Amino acid sequence: MNREGLGAPAPVAPLSALPETFTGNRALDLEEGLIFEIGRAEVCGVDLPVPEGRSERLGGLRRAEAPDLPGLSEPEAMRHYVRLSRMNYGIDSGLFPLGSCTMKHNPRLNEKMARLAGFADLHPLQPVSTVQGALELMRQLSRQLLALTGMAAVALPPKAGAHGELTGMMAIKAAHRAHGRNRTVVLVPESAHGTNPATAALIGYEVRALPARPDGTVDVETVRAALSPDVAALMLTNPNTCGLFERDIVEIAAAVHAAGAYFYCDGANFNAILGKVRVADLGVDAMHINLHKTFSTPHGGGGPGAGPVVLSPALAPFAPVPALVEQDGALTLVETEGAPGAEQALGRMSAFHGQMGMFVRALAWMLSHGADGMRQASEDAVLAANYVRASLMDLLSAPFAERPAMHEALFDDSWLAGTGITTLDVAKALIDEGYHPMTVYFPLVVHGAMLIEPTESESKASLDLFIGALRDLAMAAKAGDMARFLGAPHYAPRRRLDETRAARAPMLRWVRPPSQAAE
Ligand SMILES: *Cc1c(COP(=O)(O)O)cnc(C)c1O
Repeated sequence: MNREGLGAPAPVAPLSALPETFTGNRALDLEEGLIFEIGRAEVCGVDLPVPEGRSERLGGLRRAEAPDLPGLSEPEAMRHYVRLSRMNYGIDSGLFPLGSCTMKHNPRLNEKMARLAGFADLHPLQPVSTVQGALELMRQLSRQLLALTGMAAVALPPKAGAHGELTGMMAIKAAHRAHGRNRTVVLVPESAHGTNPATAALIGYEVRALPARPDGTVDVETVRAALSPDVAALMLTNPNTCGLFERDIVEIAAAVHAAGAYFYCDGANFNAILGKVRVADLGVDAMHINLHKTFSTPHGGGGPGAGPVVLSPALAPFAPVPALVEQDGALTLVETEGAPGAEQALGRMSAFHGQMGMFVRALAWMLSHGADGMRQASEDAVLAANYVRASLMDLLSAPFAERPAMHEALFDDSWLAGTGITTLDVAKALIDEGYHPMTVYFPLVVHGAMLIEPTESESKASLDLFIGALRDLAMAAKAGDMARFLGAPHYAPRRRLDETRAARAPMLRWVRPPSQAAE
């Protein structure tokens, strides 16, 4: 088998002396090769008729040999993918502590609604007269987002938080242009998610970093000192990536506006303030909302993402097309910039109107929770994060701990000083305990950061088990139990990867080893 770059298979029970198995399987923990390794070119799971009476229209591009595709019978194909899925870790298999990610439960009710034929079987090119129900759903979702944020307009098309950032920042650029202002600089605090500076740079702005003050938040005086007639916008995350509410945010917004700039708020952490804070009251001009975070739609591999962006009255005219409008009692989409209803639109951000399936799921979550339920969700999320922090504070070290946390608990690595164990070792050892690791080494402003966001999904019992695992690891680290950490994970199907090599020299193509050359 060709496993170069995949890491060596886990040795059987490295911490004790258990026998090796013939198959490499360990009971229900099944070893599985790549499909190229187990498939055979001569096998096919279906019988396809030989096409007859068709003319060749490939213009000489017909391949000389059959492609070397791995063939499997239907049960083999089924087993292959089921076995792979069992090696995966997801929110349906356990607590997902990734900070700044809001990995919450995806309710099955959402899935049921998204599978209704009237939503699931639509085509984006259908005449709008045949999709009035879907457009009404988009209008209701928009109303909910506007009610929750107090903003003037919402653009649904963006397909990720980062794409929403891009949309909001392009609206800011369009607004400056419309007012004849040529501004070149965007201010971004050092603790920002990497997508913030990347977005600003992508559309041609010079990014200037703002330091945080010792308490982990941005000081209005720092912002004032950095503002100038060149500054187009400030991008600020609230609550920020240290899990703290930016308490001077209203004053900061006022200073930004007084300098003729706009205030972009990164709304990825909206889950902590949902139903508690109307972002319009903070002076925000644009903010993306990750439906796959706050509004429970699937995240990561289960996506796709959806990142609607809400806009202030100053930016609303620049929202992208398609714009949802009501005309003569029916809903319709204005598809071209410049057309009535989209006179100053910045253009188009995606082929169609956005991720319809995610709109259905997000609205299902909103309606099943109601206003009181959404507020309680954010309260429970904040309570869970503070419970995790308080339960670990005596063993781990937490920066900025004078203030309560918002959606996530942040630890640094000073508690590991002198142990020879790193944040990465702790994260890997957590895999052996059956958890996805927390976010590590982010935010960059905290040394050896470990960022834990439990969300409101977890019961107290589930939080206690997770806290217990981390406490046990912390005590083992302090007691010098190096075996538990070095080389961890010990029990995963693959051992620790050389992550730098995997990132810098990824092997994206399987090459048939000479010993297996097809005859
Ligand atoms: C997740 C996140 C983003 C990016 O959102 P995507 O949907 O992953 O593109 C931006 N900022 C912060 C603070 C985030 O947590």
